Amino acid sequence: MAERQSISDQGPAAIFETGIDPQVYDPIAVMPDMRCVKLGGQSLLDRGRAALFPVLDEIVAARNEGIPVLIGTGGGTRARHVYSIASDLELPTGVLAKLGGYVPMQNARMVQMLTAKHGGIYITDDDFEKLPLYVKMGCLPITTGMPPFGYWEKRDKDSRIPPNRTDAGVFLSAEFLGCKRAIYIKDEDGLFTDDPKKNPKATHIPRISAEELIARDLNDLILERAVIEYLRRAKWVKELQIVNGLKPGQVLAALRGEDAGTIIYND
Ligand code: ADP
Ligand code: MG
Repeated sequence: MAERQSISDQGPAAIFETGIDPQVYDPIAVMPDMRCVKLGGQSLLDRGRAALFPVLDEIVAARNEGIPVLIGTGGGTRARHVYSIASDLELPTGVLAKLGGYVPMQNARMVQMLTAKHGGIYITDDDFEKLPLYVKMGCLPITTGMPPFGYWEKRDKDSRIPPNRTDAGVFLSAEFLGCKRAIYIKDEDGLFTDDPKKNPKATHIPRISAEELIARDLNDLILERAVIEYLRRAKWVKELQIVNGLKPGQVLAALRGEDAGTIIYND
């Protein structure tokens, strides 16, 4: 940091000018060792204890190995329900984003109680400054996966559903913290050529670039589409990893930095 030219030497307006050495704007990696993990809403939490408990055991095991983990929760069926009612009532996207934020918050509170005896601690975006303390104390911070855009969420071209939901929120947390990967725990072995629940001919894709994935224009994805676009523009996050929480060992492997499931990468 020290050897770089200070932006303040160029006057306050310089930040708005183009053509300045981009190195000057190179952000710091805040907590690059953190594993930012999304716990699937519909795919995992809604399945109840049979699906969730073994996943939490593996997350606690990783934390006990000294791996710092930040959990972001998904919403699932209750969030879809409120989106559907609010859409029927012709409410704008910002209202849907606000309403959709409460369900993953409920899920985060439940996960916190389930992991309390292992240091599970519920945090909001205002607690991000305390993450170093929580990690140092061996806590397991848990937050909603939903980014706090709320009423200020932008509308997608063809849909009134908020484009930034919990997959996007976990990605944006990972990028802000300067992490190399964002990890998604769901109920499939990763990305397939189509939704394997609807198309039995769908095949698994172990590794694919964001660019190729966009070019393939698949019918349906296992992640919110916004995340693939964000990956292409990211400074820190180079890979999205999607693992199957229903298969023992995949979560622990991912948290240890191993290549399980699917990796979507940016060159
Ligand atoms: P979450 O619970 O994290 O919100 P979702 O239910 O939104 O997860 O997305 C996961 C689901 O996406 C999987 O259960 C799978 O049925 C479906 N899916 C759709 N398209 C694909 C695909 N191309 N590959 C794998 N799964 C897919
Ligand atoms: Mg989803």
